[in-house]
Amino acid sequence: MATAYVTLVTNADYVLGATALVRSLKLTGTTADIVVMHTGGLARKALAPLEALGARLQEVDLLPTSDAFIERHTRDRIHADRPFTKGRKPDFHTPLDNFAKLRLWQMEVYERVVFIDADAIVVRNIDRLFAYPEFSAAPNVYEGLADFHRLNSGVFVAKPSQATFDAMLERLDAPDAHWPRTDQTFLQAFFPDWHGLPVFFNMLQYVWFALPELWDWKSVHVIHYQYEKPWEADHPKADRLRPLIDLWQAYATGGNVPNIDTLPNPAHTR
Ligand code: UDP
Ligand code: MN
Repeated sequence: MATAYVTLVTNADYVLGATALVRSLKLTGTTADIVVMHTGGLARKALAPLEALGARLQEVDLLPTSDAFIERHTRDRIHADRPFTKGRKPDFHTPLDNFAKLRLWQMEVYERVVFIDADAIVVRNIDRLFAYPEFSAAPNVYEGLADFHRLNSGVFVAKPSQATFDAMLERLDAPDAHWPRTDQTFLQAFFPDWHGLPVFFNMLQYVWFALPELWDWKSVHVIHYQYEKPWEADHPKADRLRPLIDLWQAYATGGNVPNIDTLPNPAHTR
């Protein structure tokens, strides 16, 4: 079965993220393809490190959405309509670009794809996800129980199909359609019966300090640096996330990566 891990980069900052991701995937010993979708703005030279690590580059266009859709999903509008109160989005994050993830449904050469955000690393082999059905994703857990109602679109299992892609575009850009949390809101609406993956397949970095009892290195497979990015210099939560940032840096720089099984879990009191 032809399978691939797919990520997306639309600017140089996310190339930094993808470099750590691709390196981490290679270290899991996966034999699946690793595909980096990129938009035209990125110079071939900027993408060369990804190719050197063994990733395939796939140029994609942003989605052909209407002007009205674009207007409703600009960074300013997204942030004004529903402000981010839990964390900070970096300046280099353009919400509209998120929707380009949907391009993976056009990659019909693959029977199954596991999409992973460029701000994540895979610390244990997750090839078993290729046997999971569309649409599988982990819950958006980083604060409390209510989070389990929603999925996080940083890791998901999909079955590429041009027909699905076409249906998505139609629904996405329906008159007045508004997706406050972009692709994540859309995917949850498009796949209301989504299958739940264990939370450890998309462990959000805030769990480290907000729900430390949930963190267990023996179970964690994917770490997802939602909100502030581990390559941002001195972001507001850097002190609280130091061990996770150090781990990301080890993957990013190609230095020695620690044995995950030996890392101490976050301190917590019951
Ligand atoms: N992305 C991108 N350029 C952007 C915004 C997003 O390439 O300007 C891609 C990238 O793969 C990123 C994903 O879309 O990891 C989702 O955005 P992000 O991870 O920043 O959102 P968060 O996980 O913080 O909600
Ligand atoms: Mn992300």
